[in-house]
Amino acid sequence: MLLAGGRLLDIDHDLHHPPHRDLLLENGRIVEVGDAATAIANRIGAIKLDVSGKLVLPGLINAHYHSHDTMLRGMFEQLPLDAWMLYSAPGQFAKLSADSVALRTALGASENLLNGVTTVQDMLSIVGDDSRQLIGALNAYKSSGIRTVLAIQASDRSACDCVAFWNHMPETTKRMIPQALDPSAIMRLIETAIAAPKQDRLHWGLGPSAPQRCSDEFLRWVARISQEADLQVFTHTYESRSQAVLARMGYADGSLIEHLNGFGLVNPRLTIAHGVWIANEEMRQLGAAKANVICNPTSNLKLLNGFAPIVAYAEAGVNVGLGCDNCSGNDAQNMFESMKMFALMWANYSKAGETGAAVAAFRAATIGSAKALGMSEEIGLLRPGYRADLTVIDLDRPTYRPINSAIRQLVYGETGRGVHTVIVDGKIVVQDGKLKNFSDEYLRNGAERLKTEIADDVMRLQRENAKLLPDILAAHEQSISFPLPMDRFLLRRQ
Ligand SMILES: [Zn+2]
Repeated sequence: MLLAGGRLLDIDHDLHHPPHRDLLLENGRIVEVGDAATAIANRIGAIKLDVSGKLVLPGLINAHYHSHDTMLRGMFEQLPLDAWMLYSAPGQFAKLSADSVALRTALGASENLLNGVTTVQDMLSIVGDDSRQLIGALNAYKSSGIRTVLAIQASDRSACDCVAFWNHMPETTKRMIPQALDPSAIMRLIETAIAAPKQDRLHWGLGPSAPQRCSDEFLRWVARISQEADLQVFTHTYESRSQAVLARMGYADGSLIEHLNGFGLVNPRLTIAHGVWIANEEMRQLGAAKANVICNPTSNLKLLNGFAPIVAYAEAGVNVGLGCDNCSGNDAQNMFESMKMFALMWANYSKAGETGAAVAAFRAATIGSAKALGMSEEIGLLRPGYRADLTVIDLDRPTYRPINSAIRQLVYGETGRGVHTVIVDGKIVVQDGKLKNFSDEYLRNGAERLKTEIADDVMRLQRENAKLLPDILAAHEQSISFPLPMDRFLLRRQ
């Protein structure tokens, strides 16, 4: 297939004034770019897709995402992370059938695709180590056409040991908080899953939920599997201020990064999510190890966690990618919105008069995210040999009238409404702004059915958590007032 007449937006070309270049796709990959692509297409009689008047970019990569709470969007606001988790963590809900998990996964994948996302890194929680739930998710990903880097999220320590000051709460409150688990069943499930024949567009990673949520035994197992199977390790680290407080109160070196390092986990296969409340020397440690961080600017603000120091990360040599995070902690799977937030943060960390914030955001959403997923040779660029994962934007919209800088107008002005066509692995999955693989009826009716299915759990959690909330919020206030050397509620260099 030849994408003919479009303007290519990628870092190999002028991002402000993207050139007109044709792209030839074959067997799921980009095989040629420019005049050579046109000539080969004419010679072999390739199918032509007219993308004149459109911008062709590498498919956006949502490098931190959870499909398990797609049903909870719009339910929460102004809840700090630790309180929000009590309402949204999948373990708080009854087991869903494989069909229900498939539906939930499809709802999330659809939103991503319609917003021009071609790859998601899904940190998926499975309730009760139930392999049927995993099958449901895998089936939905197969049908959707999206590319997925799947990491089953797991942890085994009791919640009271994972959050600063929760062990100081009254015994009656602590008894109602999720307790420690035996991780052996989920470890077996993960080992079986990654050894199974691989389905198309599925790539595996490992997902220890957070360093403080995992026992030493579990982290040793993660380090071993990561090395043996060459898998990326995705883990939430320093998302909230309370996590930095916990590190100082409960860990020998006062550092979660040093804790991970003790298991040999600080290396290029490590991708931390958030990394907001990190100290400068810990960023240098990650940079020296060529590790990665995924910034999730909207979820960080929505869950009251502040700003990740993204410019300092880049200067320390840490690869920076971009994500949207949870459906109920953002609440949109929209990388244009994430890019805009990222660019605005980047600008505020920069010196006045500097330029390049929009380019930095675009790089994070494409090549930065690709590298953080261990896929920098496969996705994120429009180069021969790369996967044919593309997002096509309609330039015949108010946002682009006139075009002064394509990259800035995309990052600051695009909302997702301009997404016209999305191609993954050489196959069209969104055409003229419509999904090809799921009907609106399936998604609309399914969402209503699933809402009914979880309604009792939602009501029970509202009732039970109302009793816990005063103690949880009191612990949050204790964390907020604990002295720390950095203030990530401030959007300025420190
Ligand atoms: Zn997350």
